[in-house]
Amino acid sequence: MEEVIIITGASRGIGREIAKTLAKNGKKVIANYNHSLNQAVELQEELKKEGIEIDLFRADVSKKQEAEKLVEFTIKKYKKIDVLINNAGISDGKMITDITDEDWHKMINTNLYSAFIMSQLAIPYMIHEKQGQIINISSIWGMVGSSCEVLYSITKAGMNGLTKALAKELGPSGIRVNAIAPGMINTEMNNEFSPEEIEAIKQEIPLEKIGEPNEIAKCVKWLLEDSYTTGQIISINGGWVIT
Ligand code: NAP
Repeated sequence: MEEVIIITGASRGIGREIAKTLAKNGKKVIANYNHSLNQAVELQEELKKEGIEIDLFRADVSKKQEAEKLVEFTIKKYKKIDVLINNAGISDGKMITDITDEDWHKMINTNLYSAFIMSQLAIPYMIHEKQGQIINISSIWGMVGSSCEVLYSITKAGMNGLTKALAKELGPSGIRVNAIAPGMINTEMNNEFSPEEIEAIKQEIPLEKIGEPNEIAKCVKWLLEDSYTTGQIISINGGWVIT
C-alpha cells in the first residue's frame, strides 16, 4: 500500500503545495484544514481532475480532542501512518509589551502544542511498523529570533527542540524526525507586508527573491526519499540566514 501521510494545515500555502506534490507522487494524503473548507475542497477537486484522490479532514489541531479525531480517521481508513507533517501555523507580529495571555496560548497551542500532540498520537502507530517519519515546518526565526515576533520565534525554537529530541528518542525505532526552516515564502501568511517592505526584504536575501511554496515541497519530497537524515533543521531561505 502507498505511504499514508497526514499533513496539518493543508488548505492553503505551504501545506497545500506539499499535499499536491506528494499526492501527485502517489502518496495517500490526508489533508487537514481548519477554517478554509472552500480552499480544501478546491484542492481536492483539482487533484480529482488528474485522477488523484485525497482525503480532507477538518480539525483544529491545537486541540487534543480534534487532533485525536484526525488520527482516528486515518487509522480507521488506512490502518497506519507512515509520515506526519506538522505544518499548521499562524504568525502575529507584536511588541512583547503588547502580547496578551490569550495571544500566548493561541500561538503556543497552534504552532507548538499541535506538533507535540500530533506526534504523540501518531508515534505509537509508527513504532508498531518499526518505521516512520515526522517533518516539522519550522522557521528561520526559530533559529535566529525575529524582532516583534517573540512568540512566533519561541514556538519555532520549541519545534526545533522537539525535532532534535524526538530524533534521538525514536531513531532506534526506525523513525526519522526532521524540520524544515523556511525563510520568507510567498503565502498569505506574509500579506501583512507591503510591496515596499517585501522589496526591502529581497535586498537582504543573497538570492534576491522570496521563496515559493513548491521550494519547500521539493525538500519534503526529498526527505521522504532519503533514509539517513534525522534530527536536522534544514533551512531553505535563499541565503537570508546562514549559520
Ligand atoms: P498560511 O498560508 O497562512 O497557511 C496556514 C495553514 O495552517 C492553513 O492551511 C490553515 O488552515 C492552517 N492552520 C492554522 N491554524 C490551524 C489549526 N489550529 N488547525 C489546523 N490547521 C491550521 O501559512 P503558510 O505560510 O503556508 O505557513 C505554513 C507553515 O509554514 C506555518 O507553520 C508557518 O509558520 C511556516 N512558515 C511560513 C513561512 C512563510 O514565509 N510563509 C516562513 C517560515 C515558516 P485553515 O485556513 O483551514 O484554518
